[in-house]
Amino acid sequence: MTKRDIVATSRGAVPVRGESDVLVVGGGPAGISAAVSAARNGASVTLVERYPYLGGLASGGMVLVLDDMHNDTEISVRGLAMEAIERMHKTGLAVYPPDADRDPKIRQSAEMWRKWARWGVFDFHTRSLPHPIIFAAAFDPDGFKQVSLDMVAEAGITLRLHSWFCETLVEDGAATGVVVESKEGRHALLGRVVIDATGDLDVAASAGADHDKGAFILTTVSRMGGVDTDEAERFQFEKPERFDEVDKEAKKIIGGSWNFWWLKTPLPGIVWLNCPHMTGLDGLAVDDLVKAEIEGRRRIQTLLDYVRANMPGFENAYIVDFAPQTGVRQTRLLKGEYVVQKSDVMKRVHFTDSVCRGRDYYTPYRALVPKEVDQLLVAGRHYSATPQAQKSSREIPPCMAMGEATGVAAAQALNAGVTVRNADVAAIQKQLRAQGADPGDVPAVNALLKEAV
Ligand SMILES: Cc1cc2nc3c(=O)[nH]c(=O)nc-3n(C[C@H](O)[C@H](O)[C@H](O)COP(=O)(O)OP(=O)(O)OC[C@H]3O[C@@H](n4cnc5c(N)ncnc54)[C@H](O)[C@@H]3O)c2cc1C
Repeated sequence: MTKRDIVATSRGAVPVRGESDVLVVGGGPAGISAAVSAARNGASVTLVERYPYLGGLASGGMVLVLDDMHNDTEISVRGLAMEAIERMHKTGLAVYPPDADRDPKIRQSAEMWRKWARWGVFDFHTRSLPHPIIFAAAFDPDGFKQVSLDMVAEAGITLRLHSWFCETLVEDGAATGVVVESKEGRHALLGRVVIDATGDLDVAASAGADHDKGAFILTTVSRMGGVDTDEAERFQFEKPERFDEVDKEAKKIIGGSWNFWWLKTPLPGIVWLNCPHMTGLDGLAVDDLVKAEIEGRRRIQTLLDYVRANMPGFENAYIVDFAPQTGVRQTRLLKGEYVVQKSDVMKRVHFTDSVCRGRDYYTPYRALVPKEVDQLLVAGRHYSATPQAQKSSREIPPCMAMGEATGVAAAQALNAGVTVRNADVAAIQKQLRAQGADPGDVPAVNALLKEAV
């Protein structure tokens, strides 16, 4: 790449502040994994993030269970997601059920249900109750920030926090970098490959890549402290009828939540509330984001008053914090070289160019590649899928797996002197296996059986 000091943008010339082989925009689960994976494969990497911390929804969004990584027979997401879990586990900031508790003989027993249900580490896709206990990890948001920073620093990545992406630079149909806004003003960062990990497809949309506009519930996640979780669990399991009455009223106040509106965290007495569900709001519209913030806080404050008075274990509860990032699950979705359909996700359709997996499904490399723009990849919740397919395939571990795959693809394509569109998928799959990830190149036994039927 030629060294340039200044580049033209839609709003005039801006200075160039850095150049690297791979430029990753968005420091959430997908972006961190993309950056670390590219750097470990020999590329110079810059990682851009608007906030002062890494982790995206997994830290700032206080989404606190890493799931969708274990199906009925196996752990399907490994690699960097598992590395992050193990690093947090070592410091007591991630909790997961050990192998013994996931033994098929006991994982659906009443004993395991009582032990693990309030950690949220069960397979809610199964119809039979109690749900089986599976591999998933409840973790601490600051633990995720620290582990992300450590992994990024160890890989020698140039970190540009406090930098808002605002425009993609495209030359001759290929992405060449981005413009960011910061307290220092606007400047450009150049990359031979750009990876969009903003979650909202900011970079690819700005580059002119075709996309869909999806929408899903918004949530202002929060945490309560001062909770006697042992007492609250005793109430749930030993007085189920009274519990149902109180819990039903609590859910009415919340106005939309999953069945378990509170879950335990690795910090004693602190629970997280993955609620309320707020509908009809657009995660890209400022007015709607403000509405969500006000309405979400109002509902949780009312809930607090109610549970302090009525829910054993919550008598001394207080609100610790609301997540600094609003919980946006779905906005723009790429319409890439392949658009993953709901049936692909639900029927475990296997793709020969699969480079990553979720609980039950495979993601083809083509779903990470835009049609119109070269040298650009996407990873994370805005990947190329229909809105319905994305709802079932957007959890943190599969997003990390997508990031890991794009990092390998970018580094390998640059080494081989080919565009990322023409990257050698077999070589990407081989490298992913070598670094401990499961690219899904070998269909799981269950999928093979289904294909045979
Ligand atoms: C309320 C809620 C509950 C959920 N529950 C679970 C759960 O229990 N388990 C689970 O595994 N998943 C859950 N999910 C889904 C999961 O959190 C997301 O799908 C996942 O975090 C997506 O990762 P990502 O890296 O693609 O995007 P994000 O986590 O959104 O990260 C995107 C990053 O890009 C940065 N960024 C965005 N725009 C810009 C810009 N213009 N300039 C610079 N930086 C930018 C953001 O600040 C952020 O750091 C939940 C999601 C929500 C909202």
